[in-house]
Amino acid sequence: MGHHIDALVAAAADDDVRLDGLEVTQSDDGYTLETPDSHHAGLSEDALRDALGDYDDYATNWYVWSTVVGESSPQRRAFLRWVEGAGKYAVPERYDALRDGIHHEWGQLRITATIDGHGERSYDLRHVDDADIDVDDLDPYHEPLAARQLATYDEKGRYRPLKTGANLAGGWVFPDLDGRDLVETVETFYPASVPNWFREREGTLDVEHWEDTIGRQTGMYSVIDTWNRGDGHEHVNWVAEACCDDSQCVKRREWEYDDETDLDVDGGDGVFPCREPCSLVIAASRKWTRLEGEETKTYEFELTPSEKQQVEDIIEAVADDRIDEIREADVYEGSNRYRTRFLRAKLFDEDGNLCGVPTEDE
Ligand code: SF4
Repeated sequence: MGHHIDALVAAAADDDVRLDGLEVTQSDDGYTLETPDSHHAGLSEDALRDALGDYDDYATNWYVWSTVVGESSPQRRAFLRWVEGAGKYAVPERYDALRDGIHHEWGQLRITATIDGHGERSYDLRHVDDADIDVDDLDPYHEPLAARQLATYDEKGRYRPLKTGANLAGGWVFPDLDGRDLVETVETFYPASVPNWFREREGTLDVEHWEDTIGRQTGMYSVIDTWNRGDGHEHVNWVAEACCDDSQCVKRREWEYDDETDLDVDGGDGVFPCREPCSLVIAASRKWTRLEGEETKTYEFELTPSEKQQVEDIIEAVADDRIDEIREADVYEGSNRYRTRFLRAKLFDEDGNLCGVPTEDE
């Protein structure tokens, strides 16, 4: 990037240059060069060129943001500047940090920005859980579209219906992306995450709340509207708690029940926002609308206190996806497989009815 000073001098001949603490202006007395710690006035073009040689980090920083990244995509520019803390840290401090690598998390992605001796940035992208793994021990990828395949299945090989689900598998790395490919790869993992994050920063994120989203559903999903009866919105609290919790989805839920009614559950701490109920939430809500239309019935079961506790433990373990963590030998866990099989053997009849009580009247 040896031509960065030529480019900067040429730009200063046309107009004032200002970026991240560097200022080059022109007057009848010649050029003035300023940084937060220095001031040079009355410079000829050659003297400006020489002086800039002493502020190479400022000069390459200007070149990268003005010429390499440019202004053609404000959201890409804002994202790449966020990745390295531009605007937050002064150039010398930021360059020192970039030489070691600046890390940021984006959902379950970990981005590391580094810089070479010419000020060129490159980015390492991997799963957050692989932060400490040597790059040579991960599977390398270079094309942004490879992320599509990596995002399709979780680590047990199960299809991931929600791209932002908190179950992204690791074991891969994009070790050397440029800025454009970094953003494209991130967007392939988490579609629209960068534009929505950018709009939120700009104050232009158009959030669509539950009532509006449900109200415009047509066809088989229009039935969900019948779930919204009266003033209560407890059912939407349950939906958000089931699907949108940080343990399930890396987006931060910004939608509420409607413009005036916030949900009672927290929206989460995700870096990027969720602006409307997603298709997974809509599909699940269609099922819940039907199930919740049923009348309750009174069943009578006889359980020991430990058996009741065990049923609760099983529900907790399934809901928190902890089943695989419960060791076969750990019979103190209510959701242990042998404990659960014992419960079934003792309490189910030959038709699978709990305590022999049929689900429907016979
Ligand atoms: S609606 Fe909920 S589950 Fe769906 S993307 Fe938004 S936060 Fe995630």
